[in-house]
Amino acid sequence: AQAKVTEADPTGKALGYKEDASKVDTAKFKQFVKGSTCANCNFYAAKGATEGTCAALGARLVVGKGWCSAWVKKA
Ligand code: SF4
Repeated sequence: AQAKVTEADPTGKALGYKEDASKVDTAKFKQFVKGSTCANCNFYAAKGATEGTCAALGARLVVGKGWCSAWVKKA
């Protein structure tokens, strides 16, 4: 199976990755745009209904409703 990014993953942690965007520390990550999630991030490629690969995290799996500070609006 494809490797999954966890919140404890060093890179994921450094980017403030959360599997649930509603759990993002918005005081720390002031750039958080309401409504932004992995699913509408430019680095995301859906692999099923709830997960997808993240090109910014070594094409590992992230949760569609997750978020990290590398988020860029899907082009
Ligand atoms: Fe999710 Fe985008 Fe961050 Fe990857 S870069 S973890 S797809 S918000």
